[in-house]
Amino acid sequence: MELLVEIARVYGPKLVPAERSESINPATQVIVTYGASQAISLACTALLSANDEVVLLEPAFDVYRNAVRLADATPVYVPLHMDDACAYASHNGQGDVHADSAHVRLDVEEFASKLSERTRMVILNSPHNPTGKVFTRAEYEAIAEAIDRRAPGCVVLSDEVYEHLVYDAAEHVPFANVSASAFARTLSVYSVGKTFSATGWKVGWVVGPSALVDEMKIVQQISVFCVNHMTQIAFAKALRRADNPYQGFPSYYAWLLHAYRGKRDVLLEAVRRAGLIPIVPQGAFYICAFVPASHEASRVVDRMPDAVAAFAERGDLVVDKWTLQRRDYNVCRNLIVQRGVTAIPVSAFFGEEQRDDGQCVVRFAFCHTDELLRLAGERLVVSNEAEEAS
Ligand code: PMP
Repeated sequence: MELLVEIARVYGPKLVPAERSESINPATQVIVTYGASQAISLACTALLSANDEVVLLEPAFDVYRNAVRLADATPVYVPLHMDDACAYASHNGQGDVHADSAHVRLDVEEFASKLSERTRMVILNSPHNPTGKVFTRAEYEAIAEAIDRRAPGCVVLSDEVYEHLVYDAAEHVPFANVSASAFARTLSVYSVGKTFSATGWKVGWVVGPSALVDEMKIVQQISVFCVNHMTQIAFAKALRRADNPYQGFPSYYAWLLHAYRGKRDVLLEAVRRAGLIPIVPQGAFYICAFVPASHEASRVVDRMPDAVAAFAERGDLVVDKWTLQRRDYNVCRNLIVQRGVTAIPVSAFFGEEQRDDGQCVVRFAFCHTDELLRLAGERLVVSNEAEEAS
């Protein structure tokens, strides 16, 4: 109960919209889960049935579509247009060529056209993994209005695990806070893995309407019953102390943001110097980067990623043939073997109808020590400069 009370105290003012002056009831409107991952799968298992549709914005964190499928429901995809960011990058002059995650765009009419009486759930994620996009209040108001109009019976799962990692002028807007109807339909999801850099502790929570939280509690009871008591006490304490001054910063959250902003800038610089075009993230801890076709990491020999070909020939490595068609997969394989740096192909964040807009985008993560990020930067840059010179 101690953690539930702290969560209700912290999230009431953030989530309840101005027109509803109420507080969050810790006993009925909060559930603690084994990480945000369990929150997502519990919500899907508890609330979805066969024939239900769930609208996802692509690219999307892969747990969503798999949790939806496990619940026998059908994912329906709406694109977040990354080509707008690319077009912006290519017109952005020379020298500091980059895109900005603010240019990753949802077409709200396209989104609205996918909603119907079959839509049981919409999954939103801001700050967004993988692009770093932070949805604005105006964007969320337009989404909320479309849902009210076309799918009034639907639930929104708003994944806000990166709520405290928002950079520059961007501002985190909880979807529940946008309107009274949004508040009444939204399950807001959080994770200590991101906020307290404690991924392995696997604690998360959901705040939402009691009728929906009740359904999730029933499923949790027959799977793990509850999250272990010790970690709940630990994070109740952490939430109580996080607003206090910390390491010379006004709060723990301010320190966390400062640390991640620094890490973002180290990796951004390395990605740029390595000849890739980053989408500067407004939030979260990832950098997506466009890889020019001329970039050395794009090279393939007989359709096999250049650096991997020798391993594969010796039978030391099995390469999934399906992914040989995808340039982003091959770039990532080359980066691992040539440079010892791992990125994830962004097409892995798409569902069955894979993206095919000709862009090649890979995702780097900067949730690492500064030393490791600098080392990765040196590896990316040194080998790139050596190749340019040769
Ligand atoms: N949501 C998003 C958007 C994530 O990126 C992640 C972790 N990568 C999770 C949820 C899962 O969080 P947890 O570690 O708390 O299970």
